Parts: sequence; C-alpha cells; structure tokens
Amino acid sequence: MNDLERALATHIRQRQADWVDLLRQLVGCDSGTYNKDEADRAGRLLAETVSTLGFAVERMPQAQFGDHLVARKPGRGDKRLLLLGHFDTVFPRGTVAQRPFAVDGDRATGPGVLDMKGGLTVLVAALSALREVGAPVWDDVALTAVFNSDEELGSPTSAALIAAEARQADSVCVAEPARPGGEYVLARKGTGLLKLAVHGRAAHSGSQPELGRSAIDELTRKIVLLHDISDRSVGTTVNVGVIRGGERPNIVAPYAECEFDLRAHTPEEAERALRRIEEIAAHQFVPDTRTELSGGMRFPPLPLQRRNQVLFGWVQEAGRKLGIELAYTTTGGSSDGNTAGQHAPVVDGMGPVGNGAHSDREFVLLATLIQRAQVLALFLAAWSQRADQLTALAE
Ligand SMILES: [Zn+2]
Repeated sequence: MNDLERALATHIRQRQADWVDLLRQLVGCDSGTYNKDEADRAGRLLAETVSTLGFAVERMPQAQFGDHLVARKPGRGDKRLLLLGHFDTVFPRGTVAQRPFAVDGDRATGPGVLDMKGGLTVLVAALSALREVGAPVWDDVALTAVFNSDEELGSPTSAALIAAEARQADSVCVAEPARPGGEYVLARKGTGLLKLAVHGRAAHSGSQPELGRSAIDELTRKIVLLHDISDRSVGTTVNVGVIRGGERPNIVAPYAECEFDLRAHTPEEAERALRRIEEIAAHQFVPDTRTELSGGMRFPPLPLQRRNQVLFGWVQEAGRKLGIELAYTTTGGSSDGNTAGQHAPVVDGMGPVGNGAHSDREFVLLATLIQRAQVLALFLAAWSQRADQLTALAE
C-alpha cells in the first residue's frame, strides 16, 4: 500500500463507530417499498449525508414510492463514475418496531441491514474517506450516486434514470450485498415478471356443463407448458408462483390467472423463453376461451463480460493490498446492475457480507462493512488512471 491507500484504509477503520451508527439510522427507517413516508425519511438521511461530502442532491419526486435521489459531484477531468444503491426494503410497515437494528458480537441485524443499507453505508464510508484524505480521484472524476426506492419491485420508476446515468458513465459500482461467501457479482440472470389472464364462460357444472368454458382447465394446461420452458442446463427457469381463479366447485370457472417469473442468463435464452410464452398464450386448448398475456422483462440478463472481469481485476488488486483474496460469482437474482451493465462496465455485490436477505434471519458481518468500504475506496483511488483501458476494451 502507498501512503494514500494506507490513509484511506486507516480513515475508514478509525471511523468504524460512525459507520455503524449510520447503518443503525438507515435501518431505523422502516422503508419498505410501499412505505413512502419512511422511505423518504431514509432518502433525506442519505441526502443530508452526501450533501455534507459536497454532493449536490436532486430529488426525483415519486407518488407511490420514496423520491429517488441523484447526487452529483463534478470532476476536473472527463471521467465519470456511477454508484448505485437502493434504500427500499421488502419488509412491511412495522417490521422495524418488531425487530429493530441490533448488534450482537460481530453481527448486525435488522430489516434491510444487508440488502442494502449495509451497502449504502459502504458507499458513504468510502466516499467520505476519499474526500477527507484528499485522494486525487475526488477532484478529478465526476461522481454520481443514484439512490432509488423501488428496486425490490424491479425498479419500475427508476430503471430509465439508471440507464440514462449509466450511458454517461465509464464504470458503475453497485453496492448490493456480497454473496454469502463474500463473492462480488459480475453476472446476473435477467428477470421477467409476467401474467396470463384467461377468460372463459360460467355455467352450472351439473345441469349445463356443455355451456361452460373452463378458464381453469385452459390455464392449468398452459401452466404445465410454462414450466416446461425451464432448462436447468442453461439456467433458464419459469416459476408460476401465483394462481387465482374460479368461484365455486359447482360453477365452470369463468376466469383464472397466474403470475410467473422468468429467469435467464443470456439475452438469447430470455428471447427463446419469451417467444415460447407467447406461443403458449396464443394456443387455445378449451374452445371459446380468451387469454391475455401481460408483463415482460423487468431486468435484462447481465451475462459474464470481459470488461466487467477487467474492472473486477482492479477490485481484486485493492483487496490484495488489504491482505484479502476476493472472488466473484454469478447469481440468479437481478439488481439495478443488470440495467446499468447494458451501458457500462459494472461490478456488483460491492456491499458487505452477510446472509438471509429478504428474511428475518438477515444479518451483516460488521467487520466486512469496514473491509468492503476499504476495498471500494482503494479501487476508486486507483480507478481514474486506468479508466482509459476500459474504453479500449469497448472498441
Ligand atoms: Zn438489494
């Protein structure tokens, strides 16, 4: 480590109590995706925190969710880095009161502590260190952070904003949690959310069954075919997770619907599956029924790409300077990294290590909060001198 790197690592470690306190405050906001008031409270906390670092924060007002935030700090050069983090959680209102932030030994718990308030804390800690220590990257590079509030729904209102920012960026860092083994994330499956709605015709099932057109009969045949699209050998899955329909046992069902999830590693596989889904929707098993297909891809697939491996190589170098060997993996879960990665090199999973996301078993290993912030700070400090190599790779 050179003097600058040592100063960055030391600064982050010495302020450990502040970062745990920031995490406590963020988890203290009960910011489930639909809890706009509490999400806005988390947003204000983030806005205030990065404002004190010198970022200009713009609010993107939202009716249903917390307002998205775009924080910008200009740079002297033409290089641009984008940092991404969402502040919504999957938990319903009241979860924070039921199980508030707590620290037990080396673990912190509380709703969203890992996914991804820990990652937001890592971002802030790294940025703060770069500024306080006077790292050249702080003055040279234009830094933009997008904090969004609807990621857990597939970012319906923020994906366009993220894509627009990523198009301008030379690299993107996503502070989603590390995988349970500590791996960073370079590739993610794409996610589609779709629905089939089948309209049939009601009739008395005993006296006039011939007049009925069963929506349930039609839908269940289609569901079998939907599941058949799955091809585990290439990681493509279709999961019908919800079915609804029918009225009574003695009524031929006039309506039935299902909601399903599609995952695929590559754009080609996602395309194959979507075409097959359209065929299945269009095929009629029960005469006179009508099927509507709605929905589509929420996150495009992010396949493994050379440019992301190069970027991760620099993350690994930062890790080695800190005495840690870092690895990457691919995952079936999607994030805003899927969207950003269509437009710029991306490293995802830069947040802390823990486990149990989206459950009451969620925890963060506190030591990794500091460690990941150190890795991010060292990576960013060295990034600006190398960013041109990425441009060469893209050409
Ligand atoms: Zn997340």
